[in-house]
Amino acid sequence: MAAENLDAHLFIDGKWIEGKSGSQPNIDPGTEEAVGVVTLADSAQVQAALDAAHRAFPAWSSMTGQARGAILKKASTLLADRIEEVAAGLLLESGKTRADAIGELRRTIETLAWNGEEASRISGKVHQGIVAGSTRLSLPTPLGVVVAITPWNFPAVLVGRKLGAALAAGCTVVLKASEFTPYSARAIVQTLVDAGLPDGVVNLVYGDPAAISKQLLASPVVKAVSFTGSTHVGKQLAALAAQNLIRPIFELGGHAPVIVWTDADIDKVVQVTAPAKFGSAGQSCVAPTRYLVHRSVHDKLVKALVERAKTYRLGHGEEEGATLGPVAHGGRVASFLQLVDDAVSKGAVIETGGKQVDRAGFFVEPTVLSSVARDAEILTEEPFGPVATIQSIETLDEAVELANASPYSFAAYIFTDSLRVRDELVGRLNASNIGINQTAPSLPDVALGGLGNSGYGYEGGTEGVLAYMHLRLVSQSAS
Ligand code: NAD
Repeated sequence: MAAENLDAHLFIDGKWIEGKSGSQPNIDPGTEEAVGVVTLADSAQVQAALDAAHRAFPAWSSMTGQARGAILKKASTLLADRIEEVAAGLLLESGKTRADAIGELRRTIETLAWNGEEASRISGKVHQGIVAGSTRLSLPTPLGVVVAITPWNFPAVLVGRKLGAALAAGCTVVLKASEFTPYSARAIVQTLVDAGLPDGVVNLVYGDPAAISKQLLASPVVKAVSFTGSTHVGKQLAALAAQNLIRPIFELGGHAPVIVWTDADIDKVVQVTAPAKFGSAGQSCVAPTRYLVHRSVHDKLVKALVERAKTYRLGHGEEEGATLGPVAHGGRVASFLQLVDDAVSKGAVIETGGKQVDRAGFFVEPTVLSSVARDAEILTEEPFGPVATIQSIETLDEAVELANASPYSFAAYIFTDSLRVRDELVGRLNASNIGINQTAPSLPDVALGGLGNSGYGYEGGTEGVLAYMHLRLVSQSAS
């Protein structure tokens, strides 16, 4: 299905309006051509979005959870009805393959639906009181206006995750979505509107990210900021949030190790990790990036991963049979080439790939690097591209030391049948999302959050909704 018009404007107080601070093209990374424009908010429009969210809060937070949830569930159904048309736009602006775009939207649909159900399950606790006949109530109460800031790498599901949980909790939202992928956010907001979302409950802005964030986080009406993006920007936002003691919920970068032990089934390692490594061109915070492979199975793994990498067919998402799309923009190509060059200059061997592809679009080859030296930048800097590094290990101590050498603490993968090895690694790895002989999916029903440079707070599950609520304590006696 052909994509609809991908132009994206602001959504403030129930109306789509053009931003007054100019516009920028929405570039298809697969062709480098504009597929639409995004108009940018000036500071008065950002203030209007805050005012609208503040005005809408009392009525929205007073609705029953069932009523709020019904809107989320209806939006989920509408998105399912529109999946083909939204996927057509998502793949154009993000560079994803059709399969990746559809997969992301299916997860978005599940996320809106799960949070819709959760809205009616929100409940407090009754504790015994301190004198006879008294009770203490712990009552979850929505925080207020939430600022949500989302990146381009999963432009639909991350919007769905933040809006789903914040709306279920009874909060209103100002969403600043990525200017690289504005259509996906527009499409999700439109499904909520069509599902009956009252005016002002969700407001969508685009613009100069640093200026908008500064203005949003200086507002006294904002009570929480939910951000998914790079650690670098997360630190800047944490500093801004701290000035007003705004609650931060941050999902930041990752650099996942894959520990492959002596007894691992190598075909399974490749079958499980390759889709996570090369899907969305490797631009995922849970992408396996650093394979730490026992010496006894090292060569077998290198061979199998290289064979798998060579099976990918690079192409635009609209091309029949394309299984690997471009990276998001020219900056990501430059970063990929620089990290590969640095690794090679320090002794790494390019087993396959390593180059930009000579065609229009931001295409780089699926790449496998072996013999990567410990001081290679690619081992500490998030590569965010279709590149896997492989290092040979001898002992579990070495695996743990190398795995924990990255500044991130998000996903990690372990492949072994040994319970002893699993237990030891789970205990010693600095990782908050561990897949053992399988992937480490981020699903709507269970809390997930990074540690250290990978963030703080949770998204998903009951805890992900409570993240937007405050537990008020009411102690009461009968008379
Ligand atoms: P980014 O940090 O550059 O941008 C994310 C958002 O922040 C965008 O909306 C962007 O416009 C905005 N932004 C950019 N500069 C800003 C500034 N100076 N001040 C305020 N806002 C600013 O990240 P990205 O490149 O769009 O996304 C990739 C990053 O997101 C990776 O680091 C990835 O690991 C991370 N990520 C994490 C998770 C997770 O769940 N932990 C999931 C997906 C992506």
